[in-house]
Amino acid sequence: MNTGLLRQYLAYFQDLGIRSLYRRPASPPPTAGAEAEPLLVEAGDLPPASLLVEPEADSPRETLEQIRADLGECTRCRLHQGRTQIVFGDGNPQARLVFVGEGPGADEDAQGIPFVGRAGQLLTQMIENTARREGIPLLRADVYICNVVKCRPPGNRTPEADEMETCSAFLFRQLAAIRPKAICALGATAARALLGTREGVTRLRGRWYRWRGIPVMVTYHPSYLLRPYNQNAKREAWEDLKRVLHYVYD
Ligand code: URA
Repeated sequence: MNTGLLRQYLAYFQDLGIRSLYRRPASPPPTAGAEAEPLLVEAGDLPPASLLVEPEADSPRETLEQIRADLGECTRCRLHQGRTQIVFGDGNPQARLVFVGEGPGADEDAQGIPFVGRAGQLLTQMIENTARREGIPLLRADVYICNVVKCRPPGNRTPEADEMETCSAFLFRQLAAIRPKAICALGATAARALLGTREGVTRLRGRWYRWRGIPVMVTYHPSYLLRPYNQNAKREAWEDLKRVLHYVYD
């Protein structure tokens, strides 16, 4: 491993709240008759493939372009009044994994791309560094990233129920068009839109749910992880992400 890569890893671990690393001792030579490590399988961890709603292989699908065109210069809810531009989504339209956030912030509103501010940079780092570390060749551009609402709420407030309802119709069409293998819901707003629950992330995270048959993992929103006292949440988010990446890409 070169110095640049090592530095990136260390910065990433620091972001995750890991302050000390240890060197694993060299493995002892295998002893005759040594037991194989048990394979731990959590019951109910992954939805059985047989329970997933299989997309009809040749059913005509909307394209993201068609959905974007239908959204147009949307004025369906009050959020349009304060936006600079609509932030529709970013990434691979055939992604096997989709991340869903809450709504654009100031940077996203200015650039028209989701998750490009500080939280977005952390999300990009989390995706790419975790994938690299797990031996999965994956870049941000390989996944698809979007939000529950497509216009920036004033002062970055949480979207209101009617705004979420109006805009999540478009989110659902995006997800149906992409049909990813899994969805990662970032934070409580995304979890609420996809799962219809008001339960907090702390209780929801780390387990699989389903949106129209597609497995959904809920984890912490990167903005929450940026707060300095959330070291434990960083570790948990990292665990959640590892689980999602292995489910989708193994
Ligand atoms: N937070 C979000 O939920 N979405 C973005 O696009 C940026 C920040």
